[in-house]
Amino acid sequence: MPGDGRREADGVGRRPCGHYGVARPVQAHSTGCEECLAGGDDWVELWLCQSCGWVACSDNSPNRHAQAHCEETDHPIAVRLRPGPRSRWCYVHHRIV
Ligand SMILES: [Zn+2]
Ligand SMILES: [Zn+2]
Ligand SMILES: [Zn+2]
Repeated sequence: MPGDGRREADGVGRRPCGHYGVARPVQAHSTGCEECLAGGDDWVELWLCQSCGWVACSDNSPNRHAQAHCEETDHPIAVRLRPGPRSRWCYVHHRIV
């Protein structure tokens, strides 16, 4: 039985996320993950950075460019473009906020 994927950083997970305060309407830079498009790769989900409008692929995509973008830029919040509902994800707290 594999682990249930629970994050080890429980203390962080329980604290309220204040990062979505930075969220404001942003214009998407592109219709797909720019880095995947450049490399001819595919993705599972697309997320839109709420700080700068960067479009990148999700953690369940092969290249996980959204996570890389967060780490490089300290932009914490992204919104799922498609598929599925428009969830807001905090890359600092690693959860929907
Ligand atoms: Zn947060
Ligand atoms: Zn990508
Ligand atoms: Zn960004």
